[in-house]
Amino acid sequence: MSEVNWPLWMPLREDLKPLSPYGAPQVPAQATLNTNENPYPLSPEIAQAIADRVHRVAGNLNRYPDRDAIALRSALANFINSLSGTEFSADNIWAANGSNEIIQSLFMAFGHRPALGFTPSYSMHPLIAKVIGTQWIDGGRRADFSLDIAKAKSEIATAKPALTFVTTPNNPTGSTVTLAEIEDLVSATAQVNGLLIVDEAYAEFSDQPSAVTLLAKHSNLIVIRTMSKAFAFAGARLGYMVSNVELVSAMFLVRLPYHLSTLTQAAAEVALEFQSELLGNVSTLIQARKSVVSELEKMGLQVVPSQANFIIFSGFPMPPAQLWRQLLDRGVLIRDVGLLAHLRVTIGNEAENSKFIKALQDILIGEGQ
Ligand SMILES: *Cc1c(COP(=O)(O)O)cnc(C)c1O
Repeated sequence: MSEVNWPLWMPLREDLKPLSPYGAPQVPAQATLNTNENPYPLSPEIAQAIADRVHRVAGNLNRYPDRDAIALRSALANFINSLSGTEFSADNIWAANGSNEIIQSLFMAFGHRPALGFTPSYSMHPLIAKVIGTQWIDGGRRADFSLDIAKAKSEIATAKPALTFVTTPNNPTGSTVTLAEIEDLVSATAQVNGLLIVDEAYAEFSDQPSAVTLLAKHSNLIVIRTMSKAFAFAGARLGYMVSNVELVSAMFLVRLPYHLSTLTQAAAEVALEFQSELLGNVSTLIQARKSVVSELEKMGLQVVPSQANFIIFSGFPMPPAQLWRQLLDRGVLIRDVGLLAHLRVTIGNEAENSKFIKALQDILIGEGQ
């Protein structure tokens, strides 16, 4: 969306006027590979279990929900504990309408000093910063999109950010940082009284251990997770953070009362009861990522090594916007993330992946072959 000519009578904040709303195109396609969703829908059994639970709580919708979502936060703590061998309780968890609301709350609570991130990375971190009015500082990455830890530490020391964002696996590149590197950064942020925010939206697809295992040692660390990606639950809107108790307490200051509806809490609780089924397709998607990568490499394309459920690739002869359009003309919707010479594709189900590969072959090698 290009810049809007806002009417003069509208008292819109000056700093909002140049911004564009977040807008991954929602257009119909045969293969929807643009927003990193899990392509496998909920089974009829899980859908029925959610419907039954919603039916049960619907009789109470005249009442406000549990404002503190205790049952859900306990279930999320148990889930993280079972994955990472930790011992968190509900007090270490904050839950919200998607991890985007978590990020917004972090800016509302801590955004009085600048925020730092390392681009290219998740575009919502700077966008939410701007909407809240927090100064955003772009630290860079190396040409291969890896994070230069020494440079990052000196940027932290200079800018003294209240919030430093690291996404691992990173979106849109799929690259990861190690726990040792995260520890290095968390110490650097502690020295400037800042918080390190590790966005682990894709952690379940990665073989790196979660940064939640560092929380016992580092009180200025926050790990953000979501049920939108591996968990196949994007439509329900449920994200959460794991941190020490004091940081969770600060979230109570900025949350809207009753921000998580009774329906959301009920649906997410049921989803967590079915966690092994819902996460059951993660290994299938990791295998599929490997085969999509090798198909692209066979076509002479370059793929950045990814530990997520998406990849970025380059090496095609036309501008990204043109290839994006040619794929859409063939029913395949991927993502132009605005990176020079690269496009991002989400790993889909078998039919979607083949459709993507076939369309790419048609375009790059020619219909006749
Ligand atoms: C998709 C994504 C999220 C967020 O999603 P929600 O659906 O709001 O939980 C957060 N961080 C990154 C890096 C993402 O790619």
